[in-house]
Amino acid sequence: MNVNQTAAWITHYNQHLQDQKDYLTSLDRKIGDGDHGINMARGFAEAAKAVEAETFETSADVLKKAAMTVMSKVGGASGPLYGTALLKMSMAAKGKDIKGDVFADMFEAAIDGIKQRGKAETGEKTMLDVWVPVLEEVKSSGFDAANVEETAQKAMEATKDLTATKGRASYLKERSKGHLDPGAVSSYYLFVSLAEALKE
Ligand code: ADP
Ligand code: MG
Ligand code: MG
Repeated sequence: MNVNQTAAWITHYNQHLQDQKDYLTSLDRKIGDGDHGINMARGFAEAAKAVEAETFETSADVLKKAAMTVMSKVGGASGPLYGTALLKMSMAAKGKDIKGDVFADMFEAAIDGIKQRGKAETGEKTMLDVWVPVLEEVKSSGFDAANVEETAQKAMEATKDLTATKGRASYLKERSKGHLDPGAVSSYYLFVSLAEALKE
C-alpha cells in the first residue's frame, strides 16, 4: 500500500461515511443515542480534508494525520477508539513496506489500542467484533483485500445476534439483541474502503 493508496483509504472511507451517515445514525438510535453517523461523518470529513491538504512522504504519516484529526474532532466513544486504531496502525506501519504480514501487525496494534481504551473484548457487540475476525483471517490465510472485506461483512452481520455488554448499547442488555452494532458497521466500511483503495 503506497502513500497515495493510504490517502485514498481515508478519502474513500469518508465518502462511505457521508453516504451512510443517516443509516449509521438510525442503527445507533435503536441501541444507543443516535449519533454514530453524525460523529463519524463529522470526524472523517475533517480527516479527509486534512489528508487532501498536504503531501505526505509515507503511509504512516497519512495515518497519523488522520488519527490526530479524528481524535480531536469526533465526539462520543468512537472518536478516541478510531483515533487510537489509526494511530496504532501508523506506528506499526512506520518504516515498513505495507503488505502481507505488515497488515496483520497493523490490525493487531489497532485492536490492542481499542481494547486498551475501551476495556472491551470480543463478543461484547462492539467494533472489535469486526476487527478481530479480520485479523484472524489475515493471520490464517495471509492478506487478501477481497477476503478481508468478505470477512468484515460476515462479522458485521453477526453482531446482530450478540448482546451488548460494553458501551451505551449495554444499557439495553438483552434488548440490544436483534440489532447490528453501529460501530461494527462503520468498521466494515473501513475495510471496504481499504479494498477499494488497494485497487487504485
Ligand atoms: P457513543 O456511544 O459515545 O454515542 P458512538 O455512537 O459514536 O459513540 O459509537 C458507538 C460505537 O462505539 C458502538 O457501536 C461500538 O461499536 C463502539 N464502542 C462503544 N464502546 C466501546 C468499547 N468500550 N470498546 C470498543 N468499542 C466500543
Ligand atoms: Mg452514539
Ligand atoms: Mg454519543
